Amino acid sequence: MSEQRESRGWGLETQAIRVGHDRTHEQEHGEPIFPTSSFVYGSAAEAARKFSGEEAGNVYSRFTNPTVRTFEKRLAEMEGGERCIATSSGMSAILSTVLALLQAGDEIVASRSLFGSTVSLFDKYLGKFGITTRYVELSSLEAWEAAITPETRLLFAETPSNPLSEVVDIAALADIAHRHDAWLAIDNCFLTPALQRPIDLGADLVIHSATKYLDGQGRAVGGAVVGPDKELEALFGVVRTCGPCMSPFNAWIFSKGLETLRLRMKAHCENAMAMAEWLEAHPAVKQVHYSGLSAHPQHELAARQQKAFGAVLGFEVDGGREAAWSVVDATRIMSITGNLGDVKTTITHPGTTTHGRLSDEQKASAGISEGLIRISVGLEDLEDLKADLQRGLDTLPIS
Ligand SMILES: *Cc1c(COP(=O)(O)O)cnc(C)c1O
Repeated sequence: MSEQRESRGWGLETQAIRVGHDRTHEQEHGEPIFPTSSFVYGSAAEAARKFSGEEAGNVYSRFTNPTVRTFEKRLAEMEGGERCIATSSGMSAILSTVLALLQAGDEIVASRSLFGSTVSLFDKYLGKFGITTRYVELSSLEAWEAAITPETRLLFAETPSNPLSEVVDIAALADIAHRHDAWLAIDNCFLTPALQRPIDLGADLVIHSATKYLDGQGRAVGGAVVGPDKELEALFGVVRTCGPCMSPFNAWIFSKGLETLRLRMKAHCENAMAMAEWLEAHPAVKQVHYSGLSAHPQHELAARQQKAFGAVLGFEVDGGREAAWSVVDATRIMSITGNLGDVKTTITHPGTTTHGRLSDEQKASAGISEGLIRISVGLEDLEDLKADLQRGLDTLPIS
């Protein structure tokens, strides 16, 4: 605890490297892994005190684990929140949040361009238990306000959106949420605390798929929620009872991932910006969706509320699905996969993969055209990445 207080005021890089590791008696330099399911006590009386909560300490790794705690303390500091709870995946972070905060009859208002599984969770599963969700255009504050009813308890947004890089004004949305006595949760996967700190802007909760940039190297699946003590205590209850806890080994990977987060995000953004500018100037490319470009309708807002623009971008080619697929198929370096937030560049055709389950109307309203390609720009040499796309783009008619 004392370490957490001392570290207030540290810069993000120092927090990422120094917060959360309470050295054991071995005086180890690196963070240890505690791959243990449970913990033992010196006496029956001590066991009783630990179980009742009268004395702080570990009981069972579904409840707490020292390696998981290191990751939680580190990420909480980096996001500027009071507390963090780690979970087994990004989806279980979202599930635990709604289980902790909502009950039957409550409503969620969410942005339309959410991660696909989040939409399934809200509609297919929460719907069964009497929690309904309305979807609105991410950037329209009027639409958010209009969708709120007296039953609305949670506003949920991903900003910037995938794959069109739309942005919402977090501070303004937090005002709307609080005026209606609702929480604002921001899925901060795409930018991470290295580029955007939603709690500083007024959001109540920050949600992560640690699977993406927090690890950033494709090694593990995990998630986290950061927010105020009161709400996070309720969330802790859900995780310890229902069991979507993070494994110690994965927590160790994510803690080590955080150490290089700022450096990686900076390099990701530099590569993505250069790639966006190159694509924008390419004669076979119709449009590039990246909030770092001055042509992006929300460039100024993104520049104001983000440190940089992230590394996921969309671009459109003429010729529909056939043309888009031929660009994807011509790549030799990029991984053809729906995953993102990795040192390895990934490329996908959203209309038939990540957003493939949407109806034609839903695709049209979300801006998912047949000629749209998404790339999550990694850290390979930029010239090699350009050459990888050039091969496919060269075969297309000039638009
Ligand atoms: C991947 C992702 C999730 C889900 O995370 P998992 O770790 O795969 O469960 C949630 N939100 C966003 C924005 C994502 O990209």
